[in-house]
Amino acid sequence: MKKVDINKGEALYEGKAKIVYATDDPSLVIQHFKDSATAFNAEKVGTISGKGEANAMISRHLFEMLETKGIPTQYVGFQPPTDLITRKLDMLPVEVVVRNVAAGSLSKRIGYPEGKPLKSTLVEFYLKDDDLGDPLLTIDHIRELDLITDSQVEALKKLGLQINDVLLKFFLECGLRLIDYKLEFGVADGQIYLGDEISPDTCRLWDVGTGEKLDKDRFRQDLGGVEEAYREVLKRIESN
Ligand code: UDP
Repeated sequence: MKKVDINKGEALYEGKAKIVYATDDPSLVIQHFKDSATAFNAEKVGTISGKGEANAMISRHLFEMLETKGIPTQYVGFQPPTDLITRKLDMLPVEVVVRNVAAGSLSKRIGYPEGKPLKSTLVEFYLKDDDLGDPLLTIDHIRELDLITDSQVEALKKLGLQINDVLLKFFLECGLRLIDYKLEFGVADGQIYLGDEISPDTCRLWDVGTGEKLDKDRFRQDLGGVEEAYREVLKRIESN
């Protein structure tokens, strides 16, 4: 566990779930995880008590584990309970969604019932644009909009599948089925790094035994027990 002492500077950016602060080292930033939650492109807004702490610690654990498996991540260290020290990245303007089982927007798009396993893992690209509702992108859209290069597309697909191999196995050991999740990547010194967060805000995680949802769908669908679900995921991850 890397704990790093570094001073928090001005806020550079405030998003729906995090605030990014400058530090006295220009190559590093601090990501502060908030308890606030949004869904459906910020149409639904709320607070999940303890979420910031749980998501910071879950992301920290997963980034550290991915590093040991050779995945370059932004993670540098943490300042408990809610702050991660991360490499400052130029974020790529796409979100990468990895899917093992049909759910959410994929179920709606192709008519698969939620929970239907996919023949093989899907890696999809979405435009980061709230005004447009983050639409799905084809490779031709990516080229037309000059979002990322073809070689970056290939690199992100490869990284998505490598990350999936590690996460699927790890979550299964925690008694969790990794249904789908969103990744964000950025560039520093010409290299691609995994950025943002991996947490129950950005993953669908179902209990292996009961099928119970232990992720943000509890908030999206008003299922109750949201805080408990995030705490349960953290507990299982920390005891593995
Ligand atoms: N996701 C996310 N942020 C987004 C969109 C999706 O973290 O802006 C995650 C979401 O939690 C799920 C996966 O990516 O684990 C796939 O989401 P989907 O496309 O099914 O969209 P949704 O149904 O969540 O709108």
